[in-house]
Amino acid sequence: MATVTQTQTKSQESKLKSKNKNLEEATNSNDLDTVLNNIKKVDNTCSFTKCKNRTSDFAIQCKYCTGRFCTTHGLPEIHGCGEAVRRDEKRTFLHPHTKLSQEKHAQASDKLAAKLKQMQFERKAKQCKGKK
Ligand SMILES: [Zn+2]
Ligand SMILES: [Zn+2]
Repeated sequence: MATVTQTQTKSQESKLKSKNKNLEEATNSNDLDTVLNNIKKVDNTCSFTKCKNRTSDFAIQCKYCTGRFCTTHGLPEIHGCGEAVRRDEKRTFLHPHTKLSQEKHAQASDKLAAKLKQMQFERKAKQCKGKK
């Protein structure tokens, strides 16, 4: 029994050490954003300040603050991104056809490319005629 407990504590110790090493490597950068992101990757706990829930198995990534949260704090309104959601909703409400216009824009550029090709073709045809 005694040996089992010893190996368990040893493995826990090595885990802790590797985590510290990862943290050291993660914070070994001048860019604050990179450091924060790396720490988030190393530290698999909920991004909510007062929450210690693990998110290694299942995490909800917030598209507004890119934080990883446990199921309790996954909703933007709960962890403090409610404002961002409202802003986003307002934007979609004010510009509901943004996606549509993007598609139209793509179509237009396609048409332009086709026209340019045709113009090139016609120019080449003219040049050929001129040579003859
Ligand atoms: Zn958020
Ligand atoms: Zn949480």
